[in-house]
Amino acid sequence: MDGLGKRRRLHPAPRSHMRRPNPLLTENQVKDVLVIGAGGVSSVAVHKMAKNPELFGKVTLASRRKFKCDAIAESVKARFGATIDTAEVDADDVAATAALIERVRPKLLVNLALPYQDLNLMEACLKTGVDYLDTANYEPRDEARFQYSWQWDYHERFEKAGLMALLGSGFDPGVTSVFAGHIKKHLLDRIDTLDILDCNGGDHGQHFATNFNPEINIREITAPARHYEKGQWIETPALSTRQVFQFDQVGTKNMYLMYHEELESLARFYPEIQRIRFWMTFGDQYLTHLRVLQNVGMTSIEPVMYEGREVIPLQFLKAVLPEPSTLGTTTKGKTNIGDIATGVKDGAEKTVYVYNVCDHEEAFAETGNQAVSYTTGVPAMIGASLMLEGAWAGKGVFNIEQFDPDPFMAMLNAHGLPWQVHELDGPLKF
Ligand code: NDP
Repeated sequence: MDGLGKRRRLHPAPRSHMRRPNPLLTENQVKDVLVIGAGGVSSVAVHKMAKNPELFGKVTLASRRKFKCDAIAESVKARFGATIDTAEVDADDVAATAALIERVRPKLLVNLALPYQDLNLMEACLKTGVDYLDTANYEPRDEARFQYSWQWDYHERFEKAGLMALLGSGFDPGVTSVFAGHIKKHLLDRIDTLDILDCNGGDHGQHFATNFNPEINIREITAPARHYEKGQWIETPALSTRQVFQFDQVGTKNMYLMYHEELESLARFYPEIQRIRFWMTFGDQYLTHLRVLQNVGMTSIEPVMYEGREVIPLQFLKAVLPEPSTLGTTTKGKTNIGDIATGVKDGAEKTVYVYNVCDHEEAFAETGNQAVSYTTGVPAMIGASLMLEGAWAGKGVFNIEQFDPDPFMAMLNAHGLPWQVHELDGPLKF
Protein backbone atom coordinates (compact mmCIF):
# COMPACT_ATOMS: atom_id res chain seq x y z
CA MET A 1 0.00 0.00 0.00
CA ASP A 2 1.26 3.48 -0.74
CA GLY A 3 -0.44 6.03 1.45
CA LEU A 4 1.82 8.81 0.29
CA GLY A 5 0.01 10.04 -2.79
CA LYS A 6 1.20 9.82 -6.36
CA ARG A 7 4.94 9.84 -6.84
CA ARG A 8 6.38 12.89 -8.46
CA ARG A 9 9.42 13.28 -10.61
CA LEU A 10 12.67 13.39 -8.70
CA HIS A 11 14.12 16.83 -8.28
CA PRO A 12 17.34 17.51 -10.16
CA ALA A 13 20.42 17.11 -8.00
CA PRO A 14 21.24 20.26 -6.06
CA ARG A 15 24.42 22.12 -6.80
CA SER A 16 27.21 21.77 -4.32
CA HIS A 17 29.35 24.69 -5.50
CA MET A 18 29.40 28.17 -4.01
CA ARG A 19 26.45 30.38 -4.84
CA ARG A 20 27.05 33.93 -6.08
CA PRO A 21 25.78 36.38 -3.46
CA ASN A 22 22.86 38.62 -4.41
CA PRO A 23 24.49 42.00 -5.22
CA LEU A 24 21.47 43.84 -3.75
CA LEU A 25 22.22 42.47 -0.29
CA THR A 26 24.91 43.91 1.92
CA GLU A 27 27.55 41.47 3.13
CA ASN A 28 25.81 41.22 6.50
CA GLN A 29 22.37 40.54 5.07
CA VAL A 30 23.83 37.56 3.22
CA LYS A 31 24.11 35.92 6.64
CA ASP A 32 21.07 37.44 8.39
CA VAL A 33 18.40 35.00 9.56
CA LEU A 34 14.81 35.30 10.72
CA VAL A 35 13.85 32.45 13.07
CA ILE A 36 10.12 31.77 13.58
CA GLY A 37 8.86 30.04 16.74
CA ALA A 38 10.17 30.38 20.30
CA GLY A 39 9.98 26.87 21.78
CA GLY A 40 12.80 24.61 22.95
CA VAL A 41 14.15 23.83 19.47
CA SER A 42 14.22 27.47 18.49
CA SER A 43 15.89 28.42 21.75
CA VAL A 44 18.77 26.00 21.07
CA ALA A 45 19.17 27.07 17.43
CA VAL A 46 19.22 30.77 18.35
CA HIS A 47 21.72 30.22 21.19
CA LYS A 48 23.99 28.32 18.80
CA MET A 49 23.66 30.99 16.08
CA ALA A 50 24.59 33.69 18.58
CA LYS A 51 27.48 31.57 19.83
CA ASN A 52 28.92 31.40 16.30
CA PRO A 53 28.93 34.98 15.00
CA GLU A 54 31.39 34.05 12.27
CA LEU A 55 28.63 31.90 10.71
CA PHE A 56 25.62 34.21 11.15
CA GLY A 57 24.83 37.89 10.70
CA LYS A 58 21.91 39.52 12.52
CA VAL A 59 19.52 37.02 14.13
CA THR A 60 15.87 38.06 14.50
CA LEU A 61 13.53 35.83 16.50
CA ALA A 62 9.77 36.16 15.99
CA SER A 63 6.91 34.11 17.39
CA ARG A 64 3.24 34.25 18.30
CA ARG A 65 4.06 35.61 21.77
CA LYS A 66 6.92 38.11 21.87
CA PHE A 67 7.67 37.62 25.58
CA LYS A 68 8.93 34.11 24.78
CA CYS A 69 11.34 35.57 22.20
CA ASP A 70 12.48 38.18 24.72
CA ALA A 71 13.21 35.47 27.31
CA ILE A 72 15.41 33.64 24.79
CA ALA A 73 17.11 36.91 23.84
CA GLU A 74 17.88 37.59 27.52
CA SER A 75 19.39 34.13 27.95
CA VAL A 76 21.49 34.57 24.79
CA LYS A 77 22.75 37.91 26.09
CA ALA A 78 23.60 36.46 29.51
CA ARG A 79 25.39 33.40 28.10
CA PHE A 80 27.20 34.79 25.05
CA GLY A 81 26.92 38.59 25.33
CA ALA A 82 25.19 38.69 21.95
CA THR A 83 22.11 40.75 21.06
CA ILE A 84 19.30 39.33 18.96
CA ASP A 85 16.23 41.22 17.73
CA THR A 86 12.75 40.00 18.63
CA ALA A 87 9.31 40.49 17.09
CA GLU A 88 5.74 39.21 17.29
CA VAL A 89 4.15 37.46 14.32
CA ASP A 90 1.32 35.06 13.59
CA ALA A 91 2.95 32.72 11.09
CA ASP A 92 -0.48 31.53 9.95
CA ASP A 93 -0.92 35.00 8.47
CA VAL A 94 1.09 35.10 5.21
CA ALA A 95 0.71 38.86 4.71
CA ALA A 96 1.86 39.67 8.26
CA THR A 97 4.84 37.32 7.93
CA ALA A 98 5.76 38.79 4.54
CA ALA A 99 5.61 42.31 6.05
CA LEU A 100 7.96 41.20 8.84
CA ILE A 101 10.35 39.65 6.31
CA GLU A 102 10.33 42.89 4.28
CA ARG A 103 11.21 44.81 7.42
CA VAL A 104 13.99 42.44 8.56
CA ARG A 105 15.28 41.52 5.06
CA PRO A 106 16.98 38.24 6.09
CA LYS A 107 18.69 35.92 3.64
CA LEU A 108 17.04 32.88 5.20
CA LEU A 109 13.89 32.12 7.18
CA VAL A 110 14.32 29.28 9.70
CA ASN A 111 10.95 27.76 10.57
CA LEU A 112 11.03 26.37 14.11
CA ALA A 113 7.33 26.92 14.78
CA LEU A 114 4.96 23.99 14.20
CA PRO A 115 4.39 21.81 11.12
CA TYR A 116 1.01 23.54 10.62
CA GLN A 117 2.86 26.72 9.63
CA ASP A 118 5.14 25.17 6.96
CA LEU A 119 3.10 26.03 3.87
CA ASN A 120 2.22 29.55 4.98
CA LEU A 121 5.87 30.27 5.76
CA MET A 122 6.94 28.87 2.37
CA GLU A 123 4.35 31.18 0.75
CA ALA A 124 5.74 34.16 2.67
CA CYS A 125 9.28 33.25 1.52
CA LEU A 126 8.15 33.08 -2.11
CA LYS A 127 6.38 36.43 -1.77
CA THR A 128 9.51 38.12 -0.45
CA GLY A 129 12.35 36.23 -2.19
CA VAL A 130 13.86 34.57 0.88
CA ASP A 131 15.25 31.03 1.33
CA TYR A 132 13.50 28.61 3.71
CA LEU A 133 14.51 25.84 6.17
CA ASP A 134 12.46 23.65 8.54
CA THR A 135 12.73 20.55 10.76
CA ALA A 136 9.31 18.92 10.37
CA ASN A 137 7.08 18.33 7.37
CA TYR A 138 3.67 19.88 6.85
CA GLU A 139 0.68 18.43 8.62
CA PRO A 140 -2.87 19.82 8.42
CA ARG A 141 -4.35 20.71 11.80
CA ASP A 142 -7.53 18.71 11.31
CA GLU A 143 -5.92 15.50 10.09
CA ALA A 144 -2.99 13.63 11.72
CA ARG A 145 -1.30 12.89 8.39
CA PHE A 146 2.14 14.36 7.89
CA GLN A 147 3.71 13.89 4.47
CA TYR A 148 6.19 15.62 2.19
CA SER A 149 4.07 15.81 -0.96
CA TRP A 150 2.50 19.11 0.07
CA GLN A 151 5.94 20.71 0.33
CA TRP A 152 7.44 18.84 -2.65
CA ASP A 153 4.65 20.47 -4.69
CA TYR A 154 6.43 23.80 -4.11
CA HIS A 155 9.56 22.65 -5.96
CA GLU A 156 8.83 24.36 -9.29
CA ARG A 157 7.78 27.62 -7.63
CA PHE A 158 10.99 27.81 -5.57
CA GLU A 159 13.05 26.79 -8.61
CA LYS A 160 11.46 29.50 -10.77
CA ALA A 161 12.00 32.10 -8.04
CA GLY A 162 15.68 31.09 -7.77
CA LEU A 163 15.15 30.22 -4.09
CA MET A 164 16.05 27.21 -1.99
CA ALA A 165 14.00 25.37 0.62
CA LEU A 166 15.71 22.79 2.82
CA LEU A 167 13.30 20.35 4.48
CA GLY A 168 13.92 18.30 7.60
CA SER A 169 17.08 19.81 9.13
CA GLY A 170 16.55 18.47 12.67
CA PHE A 171 17.78 15.19 14.14
CA ASP A 172 15.14 12.79 12.89
CA PRO A 173 14.47 13.79 10.22
CA GLY A 174 17.77 15.50 9.67
CA VAL A 175 20.89 13.95 11.13
CA THR A 176 19.52 10.41 10.63
CA SER A 177 19.11 11.15 6.89
CA VAL A 178 22.62 12.65 6.73
CA PHE A 179 23.95 9.53 8.51
CA ALA A 180 22.39 7.47 5.69
CA GLY A 181 24.20 9.70 3.18
CA HIS A 182 27.47 9.25 5.07
CA ILE A 183 27.02 5.46 5.11
CA LYS A 184 26.37 5.42 1.36
CA LYS A 185 29.31 7.73 0.60
CA HIS A 186 31.93 6.25 2.90
CA LEU A 187 30.94 2.93 4.51
CA LEU A 188 28.90 0.77 2.12
CA ASP A 189 28.79 0.49 -1.67
CA ARG A 190 25.13 -0.50 -1.47
CA ILE A 191 22.64 -0.17 1.39
CA ASP A 192 20.09 -3.02 1.57
CA THR A 193 18.37 -2.32 4.89
CA LEU A 194 18.29 0.74 7.12
CA ASP A 195 16.97 0.91 10.70
CA ILE A 196 16.75 4.24 12.49
CA LEU A 197 16.85 3.85 16.29
CA ASP A 198 15.77 6.77 18.45
CA CYS A 199 16.31 6.35 22.17
CA ASN A 200 15.67 8.98 24.80
CA GLY A 201 17.08 7.58 28.03
CA GLY A 202 16.39 10.83 29.88
CA ASP A 203 14.25 11.11 33.00
CA HIS A 204 12.49 14.44 33.67
CA GLY A 205 10.95 13.32 36.95
CA GLN A 206 7.35 14.06 35.79
CA HIS A 207 4.57 11.45 35.71
CA PHE A 208 3.88 12.24 32.05
CA ALA A 209 5.39 14.81 29.72
CA THR A 210 6.50 14.87 26.11
CA ASN A 211 9.95 16.08 25.18
CA PHE A 212 8.84 18.16 22.23
CA ASN A 213 5.55 19.85 21.37
CA PRO A 214 2.96 17.53 23.06
CA GLU A 215 0.32 17.91 20.37
CA ILE A 216 2.69 17.02 17.50
CA ASN A 217 4.38 14.29 19.58
CA ILE A 218 1.16 12.51 20.57
CA ARG A 219 -0.29 12.74 17.05
CA GLU A 220 2.89 11.06 15.77
CA ILE A 221 3.01 8.28 18.36
CA THR A 222 -0.66 7.32 18.22
CA ALA A 223 -0.66 7.06 14.40
CA PRO A 224 -0.41 3.54 12.88
CA ALA A 225 3.15 2.25 12.39
CA ARG A 226 4.35 2.03 8.82
CA HIS A 227 7.61 0.81 7.33
CA TYR A 228 8.96 0.45 3.82
CA GLU A 229 9.75 -2.93 2.33
CA LYS A 230 10.51 -3.71 -1.31
CA GLY A 231 8.54 -0.81 -2.73
CA GLN A 232 5.54 -1.31 -0.41
CA TRP A 233 4.40 0.53 2.70
CA ILE A 234 3.43 -1.99 5.39
CA GLU A 235 1.03 -0.67 8.03
CA THR A 236 0.63 -2.17 11.51
CA PRO A 237 -1.29 -0.91 14.56
CA ALA A 238 0.41 1.83 16.60
CA LEU A 239 2.94 0.57 19.17
CA SER A 240 2.23 -3.10 18.35
CA THR A 241 5.77 -4.21 17.34
CA ARG A 242 8.33 -4.13 20.14
CA GLN A 243 12.01 -5.09 20.26
CA VAL A 244 14.64 -4.82 22.96
CA PHE A 245 17.93 -3.10 22.16
CA GLN A 246 21.01 -2.20 24.16
CA PHE A 247 21.93 1.44 23.59
CA ASP A 248 25.47 2.62 24.23
CA GLN A 249 25.67 4.85 27.36
CA VAL A 250 21.91 4.49 27.98
CA GLY A 251 21.26 0.77 28.54
CA THR A 252 18.68 -1.78 27.48
CA LYS A 253 15.34 -0.31 26.35
CA ASN A 254 12.09 -1.37 24.72
CA MET A 255 11.72 0.23 21.31
CA TYR A 256 8.63 0.28 19.11
CA LEU A 257 8.19 0.32 15.35
CA MET A 258 6.74 3.66 14.21
CA TYR A 259 6.16 5.68 11.09
CA HIS A 260 8.45 8.68 10.87
CA GLU A 261 8.73 11.30 8.17
CA GLU A 262 12.27 10.57 6.96
CA LEU A 263 11.11 7.12 5.81
CA GLU A 264 9.18 8.82 3.00
CA SER A 265 12.09 10.88 1.70
CA LEU A 266 14.72 8.15 2.21
CA ALA A 267 12.57 5.68 0.23
CA ARG A 268 12.37 8.28 -2.53
CA PHE A 269 15.98 9.40 -2.68
CA TYR A 270 17.61 6.02 -1.86
CA PRO A 271 15.54 3.65 -4.02
CA GLU A 272 18.20 0.91 -3.63
CA ILE A 273 17.27 0.38 0.03
CA GLN A 274 14.96 -2.63 0.30
CA ARG A 275 13.71 -2.07 3.83
CA ILE A 276 13.60 1.07 5.97
CA ARG A 277 12.23 1.06 9.51
CA PHE A 278 12.07 3.54 12.38
CA TRP A 279 12.13 2.57 16.07
CA MET A 280 11.59 4.74 19.13
CA THR A 281 11.98 3.83 22.80
CA PHE A 282 9.17 4.40 25.31
CA GLY A 283 9.07 3.55 29.01
CA ASP A 284 6.17 1.56 30.46
CA GLN A 285 5.02 4.51 32.57
CA TYR A 286 4.77 6.75 29.50
CA LEU A 287 2.84 4.12 27.56
CA THR A 288 0.43 3.44 30.44
CA HIS A 289 -0.43 7.14 30.71
CA LEU A 290 -0.79 7.41 26.94
CA ARG A 291 -3.11 4.38 26.82
CA VAL A 292 -5.37 5.81 29.53
CA LEU A 293 -5.46 9.22 27.84
CA GLN A 294 -6.34 7.53 24.54
CA ASN A 295 -9.00 5.34 26.15
CA VAL A 296 -10.78 8.33 27.66
CA GLY A 297 -10.60 10.30 24.42
CA MET A 298 -8.06 12.92 25.50
CA THR A 299 -5.76 12.37 22.49
CA SER A 300 -8.55 12.93 19.96
CA ILE A 301 -8.36 15.83 17.47
CA GLU A 302 -12.15 15.76 16.89
CA PRO A 303 -13.76 18.83 18.50
CA VAL A 304 -16.18 18.28 21.41
CA MET A 305 -18.64 20.82 22.84
CA TYR A 306 -17.87 21.94 26.40
CA GLU A 307 -19.98 24.63 28.09
CA GLY A 308 -21.08 25.98 24.72
CA ARG A 309 -17.56 26.05 23.23
CA GLU A 310 -15.75 23.76 20.86
CA VAL A 311 -12.71 22.16 22.50
CA ILE A 312 -10.18 19.85 20.83
CA PRO A 313 -9.23 17.30 23.52
CA LEU A 314 -5.57 16.98 22.41
CA GLN A 315 -5.11 20.76 22.41
CA PHE A 316 -6.60 20.94 25.91
CA LEU A 317 -4.29 18.12 27.01
CA LYS A 318 -1.31 20.08 25.62
CA ALA A 319 -2.38 23.05 27.76
CA VAL A 320 -2.24 21.03 31.00
CA LEU A 321 1.00 19.15 30.25
CA PRO A 322 4.40 20.65 31.10
CA GLU A 323 5.90 22.75 28.30
CA PRO A 324 8.85 20.79 26.87
CA SER A 325 11.05 23.88 27.16
CA THR A 326 10.58 23.76 30.97
CA LEU A 327 11.82 20.16 31.33
CA GLY A 328 15.50 21.03 31.01
CA THR A 329 16.07 21.91 34.65
CA THR A 330 15.12 18.41 35.85
CA THR A 331 16.07 16.09 32.97
CA LYS A 332 18.97 13.71 33.54
CA GLY A 333 20.35 10.99 31.27
CA LYS A 334 21.21 10.74 27.60
CA THR A 335 19.74 10.33 24.15
CA ASN A 336 21.22 7.89 21.66
CA ILE A 337 19.96 8.19 18.08
CA GLY A 338 21.45 6.57 15.01
CA ASP A 339 21.24 4.40 11.89
CA ILE A 340 22.05 0.71 11.48
CA ALA A 341 22.61 -0.22 7.85
CA THR A 342 23.32 -3.58 6.28
CA GLY A 343 24.65 -3.80 2.77
CA VAL A 344 27.71 -4.61 0.73
CA LYS A 345 31.24 -3.21 0.84
CA ASP A 346 33.90 -4.47 -1.59
CA GLY A 347 31.76 -7.50 -2.37
CA ALA A 348 31.21 -8.58 1.26
CA GLU A 349 28.14 -8.14 3.46
CA LYS A 350 28.67 -5.56 6.19
CA THR A 351 26.59 -3.95 8.94
CA VAL A 352 27.46 -0.51 10.30
CA TYR A 353 26.02 1.62 13.09
CA VAL A 354 26.41 5.40 13.14
CA TYR A 355 25.02 7.23 16.18
CA ASN A 356 25.24 10.24 18.45
CA VAL A 357 24.90 10.27 22.23
CA CYS A 358 23.76 13.55 23.78
CA ASP A 359 23.66 14.32 27.50
CA HIS A 360 20.59 16.20 28.78
CA GLU A 361 22.45 18.02 31.56
CA GLU A 362 25.31 19.11 29.31
CA ALA A 363 22.82 20.39 26.71
CA PHE A 364 21.03 22.31 29.47
CA ALA A 365 24.26 23.80 30.82
CA GLU A 366 25.15 25.16 27.38
CA THR A 367 21.80 26.46 26.13
CA GLY A 368 19.22 26.13 28.93
CA ASN A 369 17.37 23.35 27.05
CA GLN A 370 17.23 19.55 27.32
CA ALA A 371 18.79 17.17 24.78
CA VAL A 372 15.69 16.58 22.61
CA SER A 373 15.53 20.30 21.83
CA TYR A 374 19.34 20.41 21.58
CA THR A 375 19.59 17.50 19.12
CA THR A 376 17.03 19.27 16.89
CA GLY A 377 18.17 22.89 17.27
CA VAL A 378 21.86 22.23 16.55
CA PRO A 379 21.19 20.55 13.15
CA ALA A 380 18.81 23.41 12.28
CA MET A 381 21.66 25.84 12.98
CA ILE A 382 24.09 23.70 10.93
CA GLY A 383 21.73 23.42 7.93
CA ALA A 384 21.14 27.18 8.06
CA SER A 385 24.87 27.86 8.17
CA LEU A 386 25.58 25.57 5.18
CA MET A 387 22.88 27.37 3.18
CA LEU A 388 24.16 30.82 4.11
CA GLU A 389 27.70 29.86 3.25
CA GLY A 390 26.60 28.34 -0.08
CA ALA A 391 28.14 24.95 0.70
CA TRP A 392 24.64 23.52 0.18
CA ALA A 393 22.94 25.34 -2.68
CA GLY A 394 20.19 24.74 -5.19
CA LYS A 395 17.01 26.17 -6.65
CA GLY A 396 13.88 24.39 -5.53
CA VAL A 397 12.74 22.28 -2.58
CA PHE A 398 15.24 19.74 -1.26
CA ASN A 399 15.44 17.14 1.48
CA ILE A 400 18.58 17.06 3.53
CA GLU A 401 19.78 13.67 2.20
CA GLN A 402 20.10 15.19 -1.29
CA PHE A 403 23.22 17.10 -0.25
CA ASP A 404 26.85 16.10 0.35
CA PRO A 405 26.89 14.77 3.95
CA ASP A 406 30.55 15.67 4.61
CA PRO A 407 30.31 19.34 5.67
CA PHE A 408 27.27 18.61 7.85
CA MET A 409 28.97 15.62 9.53
CA ALA A 410 32.05 17.75 10.22
CA MET A 411 29.91 20.49 11.79
CA LEU A 412 28.09 17.97 14.02
CA ASN A 413 31.45 17.09 15.56
CA ALA A 414 32.39 20.75 15.93
CA HIS A 415 29.09 21.99 17.41
CA GLY A 416 28.17 19.56 20.17
CA LEU A 417 26.76 16.46 18.47
CA PRO A 418 29.77 14.17 17.90
CA TRP A 419 29.03 10.88 16.17
CA GLN A 420 30.68 7.50 16.12
CA VAL A 421 30.78 4.57 13.72
CA HIS A 422 30.89 0.89 14.69
CA GLU A 423 30.89 -2.22 12.59
CA LEU A 424 28.42 -4.82 13.95
CA ASP A 425 28.89 -8.60 13.83
CA GLY A 426 25.95 -9.02 11.46
CA PRO A 427 22.52 -7.64 10.54
CA LEU A 428 19.82 -7.04 13.16
CA LYS A 429 18.14 -10.35 14.06
CA PHE A 430 14.61 -8.91 13.94
P1 NDP B 1 7.22 24.19 20.86
O1 NDP B 1 5.76 23.94 20.89
O2 NDP B 1 7.99 24.23 22.13
O3 NDP B 1 7.52 25.56 20.08
C1 NDP B 1 6.82 25.95 18.94
C2 NDP B 1 6.87 27.46 18.87
O4 NDP B 1 6.16 27.89 17.70
C3 NDP B 1 6.19 28.13 20.08
O5 NDP B 1 6.98 29.20 20.52
C4 NDP B 1 4.88 28.64 19.48
O6 NDP B 1 4.37 29.80 20.06
C5 NDP B 1 5.30 28.96 18.07
N1 NDP B 1 4.13 29.03 17.20
C6 NDP B 1 3.10 28.15 17.12
N2 NDP B 1 2.19 28.60 16.26
C7 NDP B 1 2.66 29.78 15.79
C8 NDP B 1 2.15 30.74 14.87
N3 NDP B 1 0.99 30.57 14.25
N4 NDP B 1 2.90 31.83 14.64
C9 NDP B 1 4.09 32.04 15.26
N5 NDP B 1 4.61 31.17 16.13
C10 NDP B 1 3.90 30.05 16.39
O7 NDP B 1 7.85 23.11 19.87
P2 NDP B 1 9.35 22.55 19.81
O8 NDP B 1 10.32 23.67 19.96
O9 NDP B 1 9.45 21.38 20.66
O10 NDP B 1 9.38 22.06 18.27
C11 NDP B 1 9.53 22.98 17.21
C12 NDP B 1 9.46 22.25 15.88
O11 NDP B 1 10.50 21.29 15.81
C13 NDP B 1 8.15 21.48 15.66
O12 NDP B 1 7.76 21.64 14.32
C14 NDP B 1 8.54 20.05 15.89
O13 NDP B 1 7.73 19.14 15.17
C15 NDP B 1 9.97 20.06 15.35
N6 NDP B 1 10.80 18.97 15.87
C16 NDP B 1 11.60 18.30 14.97
C17 NDP B 1 12.42 17.28 15.42
C18 NDP B 1 13.38 16.63 14.48
O14 NDP B 1 14.27 15.91 14.96
N7 NDP B 1 13.31 16.84 13.18
C19 NDP B 1 12.42 16.84 16.83
C20 NDP B 1 11.62 17.68 17.70
C21 NDP B 1 10.83 18.69 17.22
P3 NDP B 1 3.81 29.82 21.58
O15 NDP B 1 5.06 29.80 22.40
O16 NDP B 1 3.06 31.09 21.65
O17 NDP B 1 2.97 28.60 21.74
